Amino acid sequence: MNHKVLVVEDSRAFRNYLVQQLTSIGCHVLSADTYQNAQAILKENDDFLFAVLDYCLPDAENGEVIDLVLDHKQKVIVLTATFSTKTRERFIAKGVVDYILKDSMSSISYLLPLAKRLMNNANHHALVVDDSSTVRQHVCQLLEHQYIRTTQAKNGLEALQKLSNTPDITFVITDHDMPEKDGVSMTREIRQLYDKNSLAVLGLSGSTDKTITAKFLKAGANDFLHKPFNNEEFYCRVHQVLDMKEATDKLFKLANQDMLTGLWNRRYLFEHISRNAQKRNIAMLDIDHFKKVNDTYGHEGGDKVLTQVGKVLKVLFKADIAVRFGGEEFCIFSNATFDDFVTRLEQFRQHIEQTPIPYNDQLIRLSVSIGVSCIDAELEEQIRLADDRLYQAKESGRNRLISE
Ligand code: GH3
Ligand code: MG
Ligand code: MG
Repeated sequence: MNHKVLVVEDSRAFRNYLVQQLTSIGCHVLSADTYQNAQAILKENDDFLFAVLDYCLPDAENGEVIDLVLDHKQKVIVLTATFSTKTRERFIAKGVVDYILKDSMSSISYLLPLAKRLMNNANHHALVVDDSSTVRQHVCQLLEHQYIRTTQAKNGLEALQKLSNTPDITFVITDHDMPEKDGVSMTREIRQLYDKNSLAVLGLSGSTDKTITAKFLKAGANDFLHKPFNNEEFYCRVHQVLDMKEATDKLFKLANQDMLTGLWNRRYLFEHISRNAQKRNIAMLDIDHFKKVNDTYGHEGGDKVLTQVGKVLKVLFKADIAVRFGGEEFCIFSNATFDDFVTRLEQFRQHIEQTPIPYNDQLIRLSVSIGVSCIDAELEEQIRLADDRLYQAKESGRNRLISE
């Protein structure tokens, strides 16, 4: 991912501060103190994520650097000491991403979230729903201007189809009055399938109906914006919706993922898999003599082994649910056929046996024992049976799989 950023600012203290802060959030910063130096950098580089530009430079006092950078098709954030309605309108008309009042070092506290927003936007994909192609184009253009991918639909019905065919869509921006299916009904149907955190909805309507906002929100929209809207307000709403979504995604991961391996944790398994009686495949896996790994290579070596085993599990059991059950014990839940599941588990066992893990110029040799169950019972009972079989695998010599 390219997070290259250009900073043009003549005050050395402020420039250094900007560079340091932007670097701390993962940007690769190139900086210049004059128009001329900025020009030299742009000759070699035209792939910036965005540029932060001081309006007034010693050799370009009237914002000339803004046009220079815009001519190179780069996204611009302006730092300005003056903030008149006129300058503001001029910036917007030129298509700058945003402008920041340079009143103190604290203006950075506005810049950093904005920079993070632009860095994260590439992870978002918006579905824009409107029967007017002009509005769709306009909204898509605004989103793409900030690196958000877009897909369009001309009514609620088409939108629902596109949603089911495009699993990476992260949010929907929708009009209300449309043929086939209106925005509020569509939002209600979306909520049958996706909650507010997994798919955000922003209502957008020019309807004069005073209750339209409430209708959208009650149907499950995350927010609402009246049409025609001001571009700045549009971006503020979109940013707010995406910030909220990312924060909840992060919380969800913190609560449900294992920190070391990135696999799901036990909580996820018990909260997100139906506990009802139903036939399914469960495997319990345990690393053999793991204590010895810790004793020989230290806890860090042990952690390296767990991370590596986690990586292999993620690849081989991509379509299943792989969980770090505790310590060096893993649980896999699969909807595949029993034979396919057992075949992949056996491949995993052999892979671990045959692929020592490099650690500090040494190779750590490993094996795993596996117990598998497939019975029509509650989750706990299925796990218990798999665990019994795992115990048998250990008792009968380890490095083996027992499935009956
Ligand atoms: P067996 O073949 O019977 O499974 O023997 P074992 O040594 O693998 O099993 P045992 O359950 O006796 O020991 C597991 C060890 O795993 C003990 C514990 O200190 C270690 N362990 C648990 N969690 C972690 C971890 O996160 N990192 C590291 N490095 N070690 C861990
Ligand atoms: Mg063990
Ligand atoms: Mg154990």
